[in-house]
Amino acid sequence: MTAKLYAMTCGRLVGRLKDMIEGEDGPVALPIPSYLIEHPKGRALFDTGMHPQCRTDAAGRLGERVARIFGFEQYGPEDDVKSRLQSIDRDPGKVDFIVNSHLHFDHAGGNELVPNATMVVQRREWQAAQDPCIPTYGHTPGHQSLKVRTERGEIVLTGDACYFCRTLRERRLPRFVYDREQMLASLDRLEALEKGGAKLFFGHDPDFWKDVPQAPVPAF
Ligand SMILES: [Zn+2]
Repeated sequence: MTAKLYAMTCGRLVGRLKDMIEGEDGPVALPIPSYLIEHPKGRALFDTGMHPQCRTDAAGRLGERVARIFGFEQYGPEDDVKSRLQSIDRDPGKVDFIVNSHLHFDHAGGNELVPNATMVVQRREWQAAQDPCIPTYGHTPGHQSLKVRTERGEIVLTGDACYFCRTLRERRLPRFVYDREQMLASLDRLEALEKGGAKLFFGHDPDFWKDVPQAPVPAF
């Protein structure tokens, strides 16, 4: 059984390149993807983008510190996951599962706009999110990627295990990493999947996203 994969860029988040990849500087507009996966056994989303409140009151939603680091001017009223689903005639109430790569605000912020889905996260990630003492900067304790089998082959949605294509090619990590060794091991694993024939999707890579078709055209 194969699935259909659709990509939806749910706005962009303006960040600092120096936080995302070592050795670079300047601002970067990061695509914020949500992926719709339609499988004979059900409908799933991989990540849900940001909450609409980020547009109107980022500090109220995320706290002053995070709101100061990022710019939300490229996140419009039609960019939240609910609007994106409705624009391609999919009912947000008829999504069966949400698979979150991790629980950062640009990946799980739209979960509450998808009311009837069962959420699938790693136990470690759930526990980390309950505990204010565990740092989850950048890469997190329980991050997960998702492999999707489509008619044209396997896709791996990397989430934030790999921000950019060059993160993988050049092994240049983000500034804030929960566990550097684990993150390098994850990159090795992603590379092995790629060598095995899977196509990797680099969620926040502006260059990569130039060529990704938006839903309702299948992403691959
Ligand atoms: Zn992210």
